[in-house]
Amino acid sequence: MIPPLPASARPAPLRELPRAIRQGIVHLFTDIDDTLTAGGMLPASSYSALWDLAAAGIRVVAVTGRPAGWCDHIARMWPVAGVVGENGAFVYRYDRKSRRMHRLSASADIGAPDERAALAAIAARVLREVPGTAIAADQPFRVADFAIDFSEDVTPLPLSRVDEICRILDEEGVRFRVSSIHVNFWKGDFDKMGGVRRFLAEEGADPDAMLQSAVFIGDSPNDEPLFAGFPHTIAVGNIRRFLTRLTHLPEYIADQESADGFCAAAALFIEARGALRMGSC
Ligand SMILES: [Mg+2]
Repeated sequence: MIPPLPASARPAPLRELPRAIRQGIVHLFTDIDDTLTAGGMLPASSYSALWDLAAAGIRVVAVTGRPAGWCDHIARMWPVAGVVGENGAFVYRYDRKSRRMHRLSASADIGAPDERAALAAIAARVLREVPGTAIAADQPFRVADFAIDFSEDVTPLPLSRVDEICRILDEEGVRFRVSSIHVNFWKGDFDKMGGVRRFLAEEGADPDAMLQSAVFIGDSPNDEPLFAGFPHTIAVGNIRRFLTRLTHLPEYIADQESADGFCAAAALFIEARGALRMGSC
């Protein structure tokens, strides 16, 4: 294994990702919003890249703050090996041979009614005290966390207003993460990196050993535990607005933003395996 770059050198341009790493990647973990998507949509180029990665033998896993309802669909219908959803609350893996959806929760009490009521009360406080915020439109499909929209279906709020949301959540003693569109918060001891480890444990080998041949691609502060936990990490170009807010930086950064950046990264791994790219990135 090639050692990661020293912290002072990060993030390096994506084109400097060594060939040995490109060739050795077995698992590619990716964020969804503003990493696979652009302008709130999944472009054909990203979806094609997922198929091309799968055809090249790379196991792709989506890691997202998105809700259980979406993750069930993604695990079943996209060319992925699994999904880590709601910031690590669960892992969904669909076994196509046995036609069984395997759902692994971070803990047995996720979604308990009293916990949901407590989170709903905190969400109501945020909406009262931070004008311009809203409950995320995908909230009905969540089982573990709550999501406050600051940039998806509402007029995008400045980061100073996002800081105000975080201050309230901190006061309330809940865990929270800021994505490019939502602030997600929850009770319980889970995060995305824990979800990644649960997924890898299900792959049947030592998660620490498998992480050495895994890469993560993301775009925002809620991906920070993964930038810290993976030996190989890439950010798409739109992370630049958040770079000063991150303690754990990605190792490499794409020139292009969001879906175009994802395609540029995917192409490196597909080509390193000598596989053909049928898609358009
Ligand atoms: Mg994102």
